[in-house]
Formats: sequence, C-alpha cells, structure tokens
Amino acid sequence: MPIYEFECPNGRITERLVKMDTKEIECPKCHKKAEKIISLCSFELKGGGWFADGYSSKKNSQEKY
Ligand SMILES: [Zn+2]
Repeated sequence: MPIYEFECPNGRITERLVKMDTKEIECPKCHKKAEKIISLCSFELKGGGWFADGYSSKKNSQEKY
C-alpha cells in the first residue's frame, strides 16, 4: 500500500498508509475530515522539467562545436 498525505481543515498534514481508493481520513489531532493531497503528480512534473532542461543545455553545448 502506498503512503499518502492528508490535510485537515486546520492545515495539519498527516501521512498514512492507506488503500489507493481512500480519499479521506479522520485527522488524529482534531478528528475532522482530512482530504488526500495528490503530491506524486507535481513531483513527476518537476522531474520532467529537470530532464527537459538538461537535454536542452546538452543540445546547446553540442552546437558550439
Ligand atoms: Zn486536524
């Protein structure tokens, strides 16, 4: 099971090992509804951007020769 982050209305982040289809949990601190944060997607986008930058700079250095 993957680890997901959940944020409650008070802004408290809770990491919890849950099933993939779990959308919300109860905050252990204030016992309010904490919703799942999709952090994996933004992380993947960052990685793609980094790769694209590295590729373009490599291409530029080749053009100098
Ligand atoms: Zn809370």
